Amino acid sequence: MKLLYMGTGAAEGVPSMFCKCDNCKRARLLGGRNIRSRSQALLNDELLIDFPADTYWHFTKYNFDCEKICGCLITHSHRDHLYPGEVEMAKPSLSHEHRIWDFYAAQSGYDNLMTIIPHTKGNARAHLIEAGKRFEIKGEHTYSVLPMKANHDPDSCPVIYSIECDGKRMLYAHDSGYFGEETWQLLKGEGRFDLVSIDCTHNNLPNRDNDSRHMSFNVAMNVLKRMREQGNVDDKTVLVANHFSHNGGECYDTMRLITEPKGVITSYDGMIVEF
Ligand SMILES: [Zn+2]
Ligand SMILES: [Zn+2]
Ligand SMILES: [Zn+2]
Repeated sequence: MKLLYMGTGAAEGVPSMFCKCDNCKRARLLGGRNIRSRSQALLNDELLIDFPADTYWHFTKYNFDCEKICGCLITHSHRDHLYPGEVEMAKPSLSHEHRIWDFYAAQSGYDNLMTIIPHTKGNARAHLIEAGKRFEIKGEHTYSVLPMKANHDPDSCPVIYSIECDGKRMLYAHDSGYFGEETWQLLKGEGRFDLVSIDCTHNNLPNRDNDSRHMSFNVAMNVLKRMREQGNVDDKTVLVANHFSHNGGECYDTMRLITEPKGVITSYDGMIVEF
């Protein structure tokens, strides 16, 4: 599988537009991989994960082909992961005849999508998904997708995704804190992952515990430790820390020095992982 990280920042992006903190100043000065747009990824050039306001920017920057997109998985309804206003651009008067866009979202995201979908006059559809219920998406490849409850704002109906395709399996876990027991049991049944993309919103802040609805690197390491113990992760699993807030105080250049010695890649916008 080929995973393209198009956006690797938290809700505000890095730098945050209205912010004057040292980390944002440094990101602006350094540029390059220190600039993070809002969360979005693309699998095998055809399966999107999340649909933030930066989708249009990603479409032009990475030049992905909308006619190839077989579906868009929504992790939850927070606006940095689902910006329904952009879905309206699929309507015939703005984009004419094109491939129908299929969005997959749990209740809150589904409800938000359904405020816009009717305006697209059949050019986009929403599919209601539920944590624990596996479903399939067919593109050039076939994807078996298991959503599992994330530990995040419950009003946003958050899920993490186990995605299996062509004998490879990945976990996309954004946004979430340390997983709940229900999710741990489902993960156990999934077996080994070839790639795990884990939340690292708080960067390397030491003062976050397992009750936070996001992770810092130490919590991510605790999750990966338990995943290793229950057979989800082994030495060959590609480990990626992703979804960074400027409030964590690190930029790409410093964060990678913290994660890489522990065998975890720090993501950046434009990063491609093949596994
Ligand atoms: Zn987020
Ligand atoms: Zn800042
Ligand atoms: Zn969120």
